[in-house]
Amino acid sequence: MSYIGVALELGRLSPDQMRVLAEVAETYGEGDIRLTVWQNPIIPFIKNEDIEAACALIEVAGMHVSASAFAAGVVACTGKWGCKLAAAYTKQDALALTRHLEAHFTLDRPINIHLTGCNNSCAQHYIGDIGLMGAAAPSGGEGYQIVIGGGSDLDQGLARPLVGAVAAEDINAILEHVVGEYLKRRDPGASFLEFARSLSDADLQTLLPQPLQAAA
Ligand code: SF4
Repeated sequence: MSYIGVALELGRLSPDQMRVLAEVAETYGEGDIRLTVWQNPIIPFIKNEDIEAACALIEVAGMHVSASAFAAGVVACTGKWGCKLAAAYTKQDALALTRHLEAHFTLDRPINIHLTGCNNSCAQHYIGDIGLMGAAAPSGGEGYQIVIGGGSDLDQGLARPLVGAVAAEDINAILEHVVGEYLKRRDPGASFLEFARSLSDADLQTLLPQPLQAAA
């Protein structure tokens, strides 16, 4: 027996895709679909000989059974697109950020990035490797505060502040710099969390691009 993890883009799927997942679960599994905090469902109890056919049904419906190390670890709340409390378009920004980081880096260890639109923290930004919380940008538009080094379960701990509100349009470049510094400076094989927690509060600021280090 195996299970299939379905990689949805930020937890979004259409009614037709929901029906396909139900069909896969009923036809090849035991009618179960499990939801995860990563906004990706799991279909358990699939016979190994049925995996290929089940995955084909999922892929034909426009979903995937694999994802990059960035896409697999990104979580976003509804954001300004659907929540009146949001200070940023979290889903759209998360998608653009994922594509940007995928274009620049290939990871051997996943990095979890959580984007939440306000301090209610539906996307639990304080327990992500990298957390972004919607906040008014210095210019007054959409923006984020960025925190680093949170974790859950055996890695539990709250993230520490990296930088105060920055414009949403700047997060791709800022996090490209942060991830680049991690890959350049980490001990061989260290996870992002291990690396981030090895830094003092003052050293955390060295992950930022120079102009922001001066302002932080
Ligand atoms: S974190 Fe805030 S903006 Fe995001 S869904 Fe929850 S209440 Fe809405």
